[in-house]
Amino acid sequence: MEKDKYEKFAEQLERCMEDFFYRVKSGKIKRESIGMSDSKLSEFLELMRLIEESKKEDKKFLEEQKAEAKHRKETKTSRISTVRFNGEKLPYTLIRSNKRRTISLNVKAGELIVRAPVNEHIFDIELFIESKYDWILRTLKRTRLVSNLNQEFWQDIWENKRISLLGIGTKIPISLISTGKSRFGENELRIYLRVGDDFSNRELFFISLIEFIKTVAKQQLLALTKEFASKDPLFRAKFQGIRISSAKTKWGTCRSDGIISLNWKLMILTPLEAEYVICHELCHLAYMNHSPRFWQRLRNFYPSMDIARTLLEQNVISEP
Ligand SMILES: [Zn+2]
Repeated sequence: MEKDKYEKFAEQLERCMEDFFYRVKSGKIKRESIGMSDSKLSEFLELMRLIEESKKEDKKFLEEQKAEAKHRKETKTSRISTVRFNGEKLPYTLIRSNKRRTISLNVKAGELIVRAPVNEHIFDIELFIESKYDWILRTLKRTRLVSNLNQEFWQDIWENKRISLLGIGTKIPISLISTGKSRFGENELRIYLRVGDDFSNRELFFISLIEFIKTVAKQQLLALTKEFASKDPLFRAKFQGIRISSAKTKWGTCRSDGIISLNWKLMILTPLEAEYVICHELCHLAYMNHSPRFWQRLRNFYPSMDIARTLLEQNVISEP
C-alpha cells in the first residue's frame, strides 16, 4: 500500500516537472520569473532532457524486443498448479511461453489461466496472482455463472464415456455392459457400467451411472467425513454416519442426532468443494445455525473455506 502511494506520488511529481520543463522551453514561463539562478535552471533543464532521452531509449528497447520476439518461434509449456495464500488453495493453469515478457491472468469458464515468460520465477508469478486475488474471485464467480458448463458437462460424459470423480485428474473411462454388476475394473482405472441391452439409451445410461456414483459416494464421502471428524474431539464424539442425498439445491445437511446428509453430486466436484461441504456440516455439530461463531469455527477448522465457497456457489450442476 505504502509503495503504491509513493509510486503514484513520484509519477505525479514527474508529470509536474515535465509540464514545467515544456513551459520553460517554449517560453510560456519567463526565465526571469522563476526565481532560480541561471546555473540551477540549466542544471534542471539538463536533468529533464536526460530523463526525456532515457524514456525514448526505453521505448526503443521495448520495441526492438517486441520485434525480435515476433520472429522467435514460440514454445509453450502448460501445467496445472495451485497457489496458496492465507491458508487457501487456488488451482490454476500455468502456461509459460518464450515469446512472453509479462505475466497475464485470464479467467475462462470458471478457470484461472496464468500466462508467464518462460523463465519467470514461480515466486513472482504467485505474488502477481496474489495481488489480483479479489479480481480473480469476482471474475471466477461471474464467468462460471454465465458459462454453460452444466449441459456441456453431462454431454461430455455421454459422448466420450468418461467421468472424473472427486477431482481425480484423469477421467475414468466407462465401458458399457449388459449383464453383471456395475463396478470398477479390478486392475485398471475403468468403470464397467451395466445399462442393459440398449447401449444407445441416454436416459438409462445416466440412471445407471448415478446409481453407481451413489454407491461409490457412500464409501468415499464416509471415509472423507470420518477423516475430518477425527481431527476434533467434539465432532468425533457426535458424528454418527452419513446418508447420500439427491437434493436439487442442497449440498449437505446435518441433523442434531449426528447424521450428515451429503449430495452425491459432491463426487463430481473438486475435492476442495466436497471437503468444504463436509466440514461445514461437521461444524453444525457444534452450532446448529449460521451464527458468526459457526463461521469462525468453520474458518479455523477449514481455512480454505472462502475459495471453496466461491467455487461451490458457481456450480449449479443441473441434472443430465
Ligand atoms: Zn449450514
